[in-house]
Amino acid sequence: MTSKQFISRQVIRTAISMNTLGINRGTSGNVSARHKKGCLITPSGLRYEEIKPKDIVYIDEMGASHGERAPSSEWRFHHDIYQDRQDVGAIVHTHSSFAASLSCLRIDIPSFHYMVAICGGDDIRCAPYATFGTKKLSDNTMLALANRKACLLANHGMICVEQTLDKAISLAVEVEALCEQYWRALQVGSPKILSKKEMQTVLKKFRTYGEHANYNGQ
Ligand code: 13P
Ligand code: ZN
Repeated sequence: MTSKQFISRQVIRTAISMNTLGINRGTSGNVSARHKKGCLITPSGLRYEEIKPKDIVYIDEMGASHGERAPSSEWRFHHDIYQDRQDVGAIVHTHSSFAASLSCLRIDIPSFHYMVAICGGDDIRCAPYATFGTKKLSDNTMLALANRKACLLANHGMICVEQTLDKAISLAVEVEALCEQYWRALQVGSPKILSKKEMQTVLKKFRTYGEHANYNGQ
């Protein structure tokens, strides 16, 4: 199997899992992974269960598409992220319920819970609204993702960027959980926000979290 076929299968598996994990529905959302100087991305508007590896589209470093199908309408932000962020190897975009609902308020999610730090900072920004599939949406997304691994898209959904597809889908599940928790906390009061200092401490701990060989429990 070529690496293109292998990555295409992983992209399809990840796209299907968005729906089975309950963080997306229908043909909403899209998934891509870095390949050569560009990326391999889900086709536009095709049910994920029906996608075959040959339907996955290659977007080259110039933004030109190569494949039998039209690429995801959001190929621009996928393309722009890969060209700008060498740390990113995979992207998951979903219309999960709580993230999409909070995105309609057009607010950044503050450090109401320490796990906000898994997105790389002390908040999860919401990119200003722009029509789906536009360069403007891509530009807004790039700014909201600066120094972050996730952001909301106003009146739309969320994006997670990671090194691998498995990490990206796991992050999307965590972000959706955070959105649900923030939503629920807002229903019953004004969540207390963790300080910037505390979030710096958490961010530092996350740098070694999961690496038990060096973890000293501090
Ligand atoms: P595509 O099917 O074209 O990827 O569109 C889904 C989507 O989420 C647009 O924002
Ligand atoms: Zn979308």
